[in-house]
Amino acid sequence: MRAPGAANERRRSEAVEAAIRRGDLGPVLDKVLGGERLGLEDGARLYETADLPGLGYLANLVREAWWGDRASFVRNLHLNPTNVCRFTCAFCAFGVRKDSASAYEMDLAAVRDRLAPFRDACLAEVHILSEARSGRRIAPEEALLLAVGADFHDLAAAARDARARRHPGRDVTYIVNTNINYTNVCVTRCRFCSFYRLPGHDEGYVLDPAEVVRRALDARARGATQVLLQGGHHPRLGIEHFEDLIRAVSERTGLHLHALSAPEVHHLARIRRRPVGDVLRRLRAAGLDTLPGGGAEVLADEARAAESPRKCTADEWIEVHRVAHGLGIRSSATMMFGLEEDRWRHRVDHLARLRALQDETAGFTAFIAWTYQPRGNLARPGERSAMTYLRLVALARLFLDNVGTIQASPLTQPPGVVQLALDGGADDFGNVFLEEHVVAAAGVELRVTEALARRTIAEAGYRPVRRDTYYRPQGEAA
Ligand code: SF4
Repeated sequence: MRAPGAANERRRSEAVEAAIRRGDLGPVLDKVLGGERLGLEDGARLYETADLPGLGYLANLVREAWWGDRASFVRNLHLNPTNVCRFTCAFCAFGVRKDSASAYEMDLAAVRDRLAPFRDACLAEVHILSEARSGRRIAPEEALLLAVGADFHDLAAAARDARARRHPGRDVTYIVNTNINYTNVCVTRCRFCSFYRLPGHDEGYVLDPAEVVRRALDARARGATQVLLQGGHHPRLGIEHFEDLIRAVSERTGLHLHALSAPEVHHLARIRRRPVGDVLRRLRAAGLDTLPGGGAEVLADEARAAESPRKCTADEWIEVHRVAHGLGIRSSATMMFGLEEDRWRHRVDHLARLRALQDETAGFTAFIAWTYQPRGNLARPGERSAMTYLRLVALARLFLDNVGTIQASPLTQPPGVVQLALDGGADDFGNVFLEEHVVAAAGVELRVTEALARRTIAEAGYRPVRRDTYYRPQGEAA
């Protein structure tokens, strides 16, 4: 407790203090002036006193020690997204039944529109941040309010608190990894992708399983513990090809196989007209360990329809992960944002879908957000600034209360922004890739070495720790 008088000048009155000393509050006055904590007996004395002016004087001494002559107020917006309620509390005139003529429900777009005029009006105090800080789960409409209205520093501080509750201490983990793209041939033609080549293109390739093994062994020799296998949606590579590939890499290298994102699994199931569960079971039997969370972009079909209409839908992406989790295959979850079509309400919907599935399966290991890299692509960029990225990292930490790890994105953000992310909700640095082609195809030149990773983490005031795919310090038992 701060000692009264330590911070601010107080207005004292000799006459009033003399009057207090003549009554029963003299000992309390001495304690207040000395900055001592009051005891039970003092409390009882204050409660029972008839000297109300003296009581008010004492209270004002403490209040002025804290705040001087300042009296504050807050500008607030009390927004009720709906008045529909299934309860009928006798003391409430607000809630109505859904079929009532006065019932209303606002969707996220309507909430956002109501907030738009207040965007520059310091609308930070909507009581959500303080409740999020205390650990209360925040609702999607509250997350949207925070995304568009909260002061950035307040948001980051709340996320830092939440991260510290989940991960006390100063460790920040990272993994040494290789990303082998087994083919760049793809029929899906996403407008934000500069990696793929259509079938028959001169630059199209399919890596032979022996070549993939050779590269994985090379990465293992250089310290990799995981191999990330991802590629395009090749029209003719069937499940048998992937069984052979995964079996070969698993048996020959012993590396953890983090392979085939949900759209790739969905594509395999579609071209062979097999259920997703069958495909995953066969890949699992061949040696697949976990699924990467790629291909989610923003899980809103409105946005996906414009930029990747041939890719799996948001529901299908979620369903692949649900089935994988049911089979004991854990996965990461991602979001690539910053396309012209995506909006905060889409991003919040995306987080809400992840949280709901995590409540159901507990299968996600981590959430990773990264920004769209537009160079050489057809899709037009939207809101993708460093501030937007950092707000999303903080929001993810607060909203995804059931996902342990929030990962930074050193491949799409410079080290300074990664450091801010680590101080604003993220607890994992991400990947040191020994090989990577997809992001590099968009002209991104952020090469991340292990030395750079360790330096970036240490300079942010944290302790770098190598980890495995399950975000455990490397070598720690399951
Ligand atoms: S993002 Fe994936 S699915 Fe889309 S075009 Fe590129 S390789 Fe194909």
